[in-house]
Amino acid sequence: MLDRRSFVGGALLASGARLWGAGYDLVIKGGRLIDPAQKIDRIADVAVQAGKIARIGTNLSGTQTIDATGKLVTPGLIDVHMHAGDTMLPPSEVLNTGVTSLCDGGSRGADNLDELVGIARTANRMRIFLNIARLGNAPNGRAEFLDGLEPADIGKCRAAVERNREWIVGIKARLSRGVAKDQDVEVLRRARVVADAVKLPIMIHMGDTASPLPGLLAMLRPGDIVTHLYAPPPHGIMDDKGKILPEVLAARNRGVRFDFGNGRNEHWTWEVAQSALQQGFAPDTISTDLNATSRTEQVFDLPSTMSKFLLLGMPLNQVIACVTANAARSITTFKSYGTLRTGAVADIAVLTLAQGSFDFVDNYKGVRKGTQKLSAHAVVAGGRVR
Ligand SMILES: [Zn+2]
Repeated sequence: MLDRRSFVGGALLASGARLWGAGYDLVIKGGRLIDPAQKIDRIADVAVQAGKIARIGTNLSGTQTIDATGKLVTPGLIDVHMHAGDTMLPPSEVLNTGVTSLCDGGSRGADNLDELVGIARTANRMRIFLNIARLGNAPNGRAEFLDGLEPADIGKCRAAVERNREWIVGIKARLSRGVAKDQDVEVLRRARVVADAVKLPIMIHMGDTASPLPGLLAMLRPGDIVTHLYAPPPHGIMDDKGKILPEVLAARNRGVRFDFGNGRNEHWTWEVAQSALQQGFAPDTISTDLNATSRTEQVFDLPSTMSKFLLLGMPLNQVIACVTANAARSITTFKSYGTLRTGAVADIAVLTLAQGSFDFVDNYKGVRKGTQKLSAHAVVAGGRVR
């Protein structure tokens, strides 16, 4: 993280002092600016005034300055799928890793949502996918539907969304056999009923489902999100020969979004990810599925997760797009974020792209060595240096 000595300038100059030559409130100087939303990739300064992006240019001066020489300067990162319901993983800690906007992916349901909404109120910018199951993502160590479908309560879920409209951005349905046994279709049907009633998307958790994926995809609409897209067989995105299923390509073509969702257990292998990327099937969004445990193993944070895609050969600009412009497109509430466009809220990540030899691991203990690793150097949220 940035230490205080990296700052230049004083607080005595009011923001209006720009007319007198003192410059903008904040200037991030000399970094490689990457903003896929504007197709920008060049060395430049970015100026912040009154919490908004004021200008991209050269030789800009500011009351406060961050020297970004040799660093990447990107829009604040957006993690569309993590778990913020755990007191061991406060959103402030995620903010330090460059993530200025995040979604909790189904940690809680209608019966235990209040605490999570409380966390969202204090977080920088956090929204919630509400689990169709009343108690959410196994808060008591027992997966949602192992004892039957009673927790998938349409009325309660809908009422909870309506009570918390401001915070809920979608309905989460975990469909793997370890969660839904052989009832994936019925769980998804109930999520569909709620989602349609409240006009929000569904995020499904695929992989090892009882039903083949095409049948589940057929129940999704444009804007719905499929997370854990690189889950290995059975019932992943490929056929027996390793070819992407036509139904998967068709789902993408009609607007279904595909998310990575790193996580720790059975969500992805290097082999599936590599094969899919070679066939041109990249994720729309790269997310961590982070929780308190994976903060110290496998996942660590969003920049580490992004680094795995650099290892797999995805171009840097596309990796950045997956956590900025693309993520803002997936989450309607975030549509004005994920860019450094003039007038946008000044959410900015200054990233280090280290060169060296770094180990990365998939969910099955597969280790690969990468030569590049991203980490956060400095973070600006709403114009404030964090
Ligand atoms: Zn998750």
